[in-house]
Amino acid sequence: MEINQFPEDIRPYLLPEPRGLMVYRCLGCAREFDITRLLYTCAECGSVLLLHDKNKHLINGVGGKKWREIFDYRRMLNHNALKGVFRYYEFIAPIIPLDRIIYLGEGHTPLVEANNRLKERVGLDFYFKNDGLNPSASFKDRGMACALSYINYLAKNEHMGKILAICASTGDTSASAALYASYLEDFLKSAVLLPQGKVTPQQLSQPLGSGARVLEMPGVFDDCMEVVESLAENYDVALLNSKNSWRILGQESFSFEIAQDFDYEVGDKTVVVPIGNAGNITAVMSGFLKFYKSGVIDRLPKIVGVQSEHADPVYRYYQEKDSFRRNFVPVTVRPSVAQAAMIGNPVSMPRVIELAKEYDKTAGERKIFVVQVSEQEIMDSMVVANRNGNIACTQGGESLAGLQKAVEAGYIKSSEVGVLDSTAHVLKFSVFQDMYFNNTFGPEFNVIPKPELANTPVQVHPKGLSRYPSTGQPLSEDEMKTFIREMTAEIARILNLEKR
Ligand SMILES: *Cc1c(COP(=O)(O)O)cnc(C)c1O
Ligand SMILES: [Zn+2]
Repeated sequence: MEINQFPEDIRPYLLPEPRGLMVYRCLGCAREFDITRLLYTCAECGSVLLLHDKNKHLINGVGGKKWREIFDYRRMLNHNALKGVFRYYEFIAPIIPLDRIIYLGEGHTPLVEANNRLKERVGLDFYFKNDGLNPSASFKDRGMACALSYINYLAKNEHMGKILAICASTGDTSASAALYASYLEDFLKSAVLLPQGKVTPQQLSQPLGSGARVLEMPGVFDDCMEVVESLAENYDVALLNSKNSWRILGQESFSFEIAQDFDYEVGDKTVVVPIGNAGNITAVMSGFLKFYKSGVIDRLPKIVGVQSEHADPVYRYYQEKDSFRRNFVPVTVRPSVAQAAMIGNPVSMPRVIELAKEYDKTAGERKIFVVQVSEQEIMDSMVVANRNGNIACTQGGESLAGLQKAVEAGYIKSSEVGVLDSTAHVLKFSVFQDMYFNNTFGPEFNVIPKPELANTPVQVHPKGLSRYPSTGQPLSEDEMKTFIREMTAEIARILNLEKR
C-alpha cells in the first residue's frame, strides 16, 4: 500500500527517523558507555552490557494504542528496511538510518497452532512459532540483522576500513553471521570458530557456502567462546556472539511478533524457549518488558526456559528458592541432542538474573520459570511434533518437552495457551532424527528410541525382476512393461492396497 493511502494520523509514523539516544549500560556497575564503537564488556568491571534508549520518553509519549495501530499498518507497508524485525524500529535500534538496514528475509515467522492430537497429549492449547523459517534457518538471524545493520551504519558513518567479524558457535550463530556478512562483502569478512565434530554437517555447510573462514578447534562451545573472547579483547575484530548486545535487540522482535500476532493479548500466554548461552531468553524477557512499559501490551506473559539435564546451569541456579542464596555455578556439559544449546557457562547469565527479577517484580507475581528435561524427552517430543505437521528441531522438541514439564509442575493452567519457540529448522538436525530412527545413539545420550516412532525407507525389489532401469542403459519396451507390472504388484503388496 502506498503512503498516501494510509490514514492521515498514521502517515507521519510510518517511516521512522533515528530519534533514539542509545548507550551501553553495564549489568555489573551500571556505568554507561557511548555507542560510537563496538563494546562487549564493561571497561571498568568486565561485566556484560545491555543497550538502553535514553529517549524512551519519545516512545512512551506516543501511547500503546497508537503503537498498536502503527505496527498493524506497517504490516501493509512495502518498505524494504521495515519488512523484517525493524517493523518495530523504535523499540529495537532507533539510531540506525533506514538506508543502512539490512533485510535478508528474517522475522515474521509463522505461528502454527498445534493439532488436536498434540493439544490432547499436553493438555493445553499451544502454538509453535517456527523460527526455523528464517533465512539461515534459525532465530539467530533476528539478532544478526540488527547487529550487522548497526555495523553497516557504523562503518559508513565512522569511515571504518575493512572489518573482520568473528564468532564462536554451536552451529547456528556461525551460519547466520556468515550469511549476513557475505551480503556486506565489500568491507566485511567473517570468520567462525566451531567445536570440531559438535555441529551438524548441515550447519557446517552453511558458513562454508557463505564464504566465511571456518575454523574448527578441539573442545566444546564454552572453550571456543573463551578463545573468541580473547581474540575480541586483543585484536581488532567485531564479535558477533550474543555478548554483542545489538544481537539481543534484534532478537526482541520474537516477543514483539508474538504480541502482534495475538492482537496484543498475551496475559494468558506462556512462551517457552530453550536456553543455551541465554541470549534468547534475555531478549524474550526484555522485549515483553519494553512492550509492557510503553503500554503496547497491558499484561506480561509467562516465560518458561528449558534446559537439558546434560547442560543445565540455569536450571540449577533457580533450584535454590531463596534468591539471596542463589549462586551461579557453570557446569561441564555432556553430549546433548539439543546441541545448539549445549552450553555450560552462558555468557548472558547476569542479564537473565537481572531481567528475571525485574520481570517478576513488574508483573507482581512469578512469571519466569526454568524447567529441566531429559534427552529422551527432547527426542520423543521432537519426533512426535514432526509427526503432527511441525518442523521442530531438537531444541523445538526441547520446548515441547519443557511445556509438558511446566504443565506437570503446575506452572501453567489448562486454560492458558503455550507458544513454543522452535528455534531452528528440523533439517539442520537430521542427524539426530537418523540416530533415533536407526537406534544408533551412543550410550552418552541416554536415548532409547520408541520403536513405534521409528521410520526408515523400504527397498522395493520384486523377486521376479532381473533387469532394472539404470542411467544410460534403457530397458527394452517389453522389459519396461514387466518392470512396471512387477513393481506395481510389489508396492501394492507392501502397502496392502485393495484392488479396484
Ligand atoms: C542458539 C540456539 C539456541 C540457544 O539460544 P541461546 O540464545 O544461546 O540461549 C537454541 N536453539 C537453537 C536452534 C539455537 O541455534
Ligand atoms: Zn561495569
